[in-house]
Amino acid sequence: MASISLNNIVKRYGAFQVIHGVDIDVRDGEFVVLVGPSGCGKSTILRMIAGLEAISGGTLSIGGRKVNGLSSKERDIAMVFQNYALYPHMTVAENMGFSLKLRGSAKTEIDSRVRRAADILALSEYLDRYPRHLSGGQRQRVAMGRAIVRDPAVFLFDEPLSNLDAKLRISMRAEIKDLHQRLGITMIYVTHDQVEAMTMADRIVVLRDGVVEQVGRPLELYDWPDNIFVAGFIGSPAMNLMPGKVEAVNGTLCFRTRNGTVFPAEKYADHDDIGLDTVLGVRPENFEIVAEGTPGSLKGKIQLVEPMGSETHVNLRVGQDDMIAAFRQRVGDHPGAPLSFRFEQESVHLFRQDTGRRIVRQPQLVPT
Ligand code: ADP
Ligand code: MG
Repeated sequence: MASISLNNIVKRYGAFQVIHGVDIDVRDGEFVVLVGPSGCGKSTILRMIAGLEAISGGTLSIGGRKVNGLSSKERDIAMVFQNYALYPHMTVAENMGFSLKLRGSAKTEIDSRVRRAADILALSEYLDRYPRHLSGGQRQRVAMGRAIVRDPAVFLFDEPLSNLDAKLRISMRAEIKDLHQRLGITMIYVTHDQVEAMTMADRIVVLRDGVVEQVGRPLELYDWPDNIFVAGFIGSPAMNLMPGKVEAVNGTLCFRTRNGTVFPAEKYADHDDIGLDTVLGVRPENFEIVAEGTPGSLKGKIQLVEPMGSETHVNLRVGQDDMIAAFRQRVGDHPGAPLSFRFEQESVHLFRQDTGRRIVRQPQLVPT
């Protein structure tokens, strides 16, 4: 078991800098997910931790020991990749034990470790099979088994589920999380999929362009995004983000979008915000259908209805603004029909346009 600490880590490829001073602290036994759009530097960071990529600057420590100069072998780490090619001519047991064999471990030692890993992964019945006779999920488990037999202090995963179909991805995601709970090993998991990050992580690190945007527990990021990027990245359907300004109309604070829609704002805005370029953020599930004419409500026009079963996603046109709402109740598929709605002012997020940072004023939203 081991903690991992990245301190001002930098990566350059020639003159091209891709990681710009990243700080990440992973506690012993923690499951941390690095998430961000493709190309933001997730794999590069993971490969530097694994020792597969040289570190250009900063300090990397594992278990309190600086490991910048150590080879991959000396770091006591196992990595599972997206493309986990199994050896087709080897059985499951041989695939799992191969790295130990290369290491020169005794046969009895290899056997017992393979059996233990197979037990953990429910692969015991398949030890004599060849990869071609396994399902996609079983093959993925063999790939994890290869890592488990090495009994590493740290597990690294780089998008291990990307090549699996949607249903299998969901069940494997639960299996990996369960594996973490049983083994209690430090794990760092990389994905571009925010749902994977939300469902699996103890803590999430959101990355963009080689910079950490925010670190926090899943619901912390969801309820309290530090900036516009995190607000838009975490959550599906994404948060509605509408640029505009706070105004005082007849002494009452309101928010006017760039396109002219006006929302009440007494509860989240302040007189200091008047005239500032801001962005209003509202999560789709915070919309509520109300009777026409309800005080504080707005009227929109249904553009598109997506019935999910458990909820209904509705694209709304409100004046010149487009929004997406998610309702628990069912909504008839009537494009062009009017729909009156409102949202609780307590649920909105307000950001500065210039810095993208949250304007922290809503006391009811202070995270606990
Ligand atoms: P992610 O895993 O988040 O999709 P990567 O870590 O693979 O992103 O890549 C981060 C950035 O580094 C990208 O701009 C990519 O083009 C660049 N990059 C990755 N590997 C190399 C390399 N060997 N040489 C030059 N640039 C690279
Ligand atoms: Mg990658």
